[in-house]
Amino acid sequence: MKSAPTTPTKPEIRNPLDPGRVAELSAREEARFFRENAGSRVAYRAGAAHLIGGVGSSYQKIDPFPLVIEHGEGAYLYDVDGHRRLDVNNAFGSMVQGHAHPLISTAIAKRAAIGAHFTAPVRDAGIVADHLAHRFGLPWWRFSNSGSEATMDAIRIARGLTGRTTIVKITGSYHGHHDAVMVDTAHLTPEQTEGDQAYRPGIAYGAGIPANVVADTVSVPFNDAAALAARFAAMEAEGRLPACLIMEAAMMNCGVILPAEGYLASVRELTRRYGIVWIVDEVKTGLAIAAGGACEYFGIEPDMVCLAKALGAGLPSGAIGMREDLAAEVDSSRVRHVGTFSGNPLVMAAARASLERVLTPEAYAEIGRLEEKLLAGASAIMAEYRVAGHAVGIRSKGVIFIGAEAPVTDFASWGRMVSPEVNRLAWLYGVNRGIYAAPGRDEEWTLSVAMGDEEAEHYLAVFAELCAELAR
Ligand code: PMP
Repeated sequence: MKSAPTTPTKPEIRNPLDPGRVAELSAREEARFFRENAGSRVAYRAGAAHLIGGVGSSYQKIDPFPLVIEHGEGAYLYDVDGHRRLDVNNAFGSMVQGHAHPLISTAIAKRAAIGAHFTAPVRDAGIVADHLAHRFGLPWWRFSNSGSEATMDAIRIARGLTGRTTIVKITGSYHGHHDAVMVDTAHLTPEQTEGDQAYRPGIAYGAGIPANVVADTVSVPFNDAAALAARFAAMEAEGRLPACLIMEAAMMNCGVILPAEGYLASVRELTRRYGIVWIVDEVKTGLAIAAGGACEYFGIEPDMVCLAKALGAGLPSGAIGMREDLAAEVDSSRVRHVGTFSGNPLVMAAARASLERVLTPEAYAEIGRLEEKLLAGASAIMAEYRVAGHAVGIRSKGVIFIGAEAPVTDFASWGRMVSPEVNRLAWLYGVNRGIYAAPGRDEEWTLSVAMGDEEAEHYLAVFAELCAELAR
């Protein structure tokens, strides 16, 4: 007789670090943080009289309070208390060029002196598009002012070309703050990613997102080509094939999650089979991991690419690269792509200087060398102190999953193995010792061209100190 199917057992939460020790160290580090950053606390409070939460965007809200920055130079940030810290956050990956790079500052100053904005073409726009076409292997480009605008317009163009409404994204991924992609982001709890995911309705990231928009966004787990194939087949049977699949080639908002062998090739094959536009969101990877981003690094050929962050070298920027037939939708104005500031001359001047003179192939090679040093060093330190974990990265982007016993392969495994308490401790610990990382380690580090061996060694020394304390 056949036995009844068993319900799969819930995976154990597997971050083996002692929570008591983590809490004890966090309390000590937080007290030090309060003691040593009084100027930031005062300046932050002063700024909160009319500014909601004291920040221009909720991404700047940091617990217990954000550090208020005075200036940046090269690999370092200087706050209002006069602390100098090695910046490995680099504005969530926007400043791969380092701070106040002289070539970029000069290009911006020269352009500002002769007029900052005209809403008319400038020569630099075409030149930047030429560079991007060569780097990413996509022939046609348009500009925007942020990553959110880039993904929003890319999705609209895909919908316009295909005449379809639904879109597919990866569970836990982030593609910006417009409604269609504010669904099933990393706000999901581990419990919400268990059980049969195929029929779980999408979950909005915050209030104000219409239910009908949420219903048109379907998410699938990363690194699971079989789940993607099954979902496309089911959507075809339901008569609602998606216009596009939007994803990152490597997930960059849950630390760094690398694509499994063959996964991206399967994604390419499946999207072609169903005529689904494959949008690779390279807002983070784009100009950070190689001259031609994930397209070059992984050797992939998506239909569209979205860029932002490092493109503008510190100025608000975005870009979309695409195939001929998608570009024809825009060129004919069947799909509207507009924007007062898109292709802004200041941004174009900064982007051109950055692409031609700063983010060169040699710069990526040097960043890659430092990344290897960090990954090998962090792995050796964890082995020495017997702290579980994995160091993962691609060129400028990397993370140490402290306490993760197995490799992180998707959002669900990230949720199970990564501890917010350990992450908070690591951030405080670093900041108190001259290292400014991304809070929460969701995207722990972005290296810049301004970093060298001395900076990598400083980072590793602080990490070793933390591991020694955790092991005790
Ligand atoms: N896509 C990805 C992959 C991102 O990481 C982000 C921002 N973190 C965005 C899109 C949105 O970019 P922006 O914040 O410039 O709108």
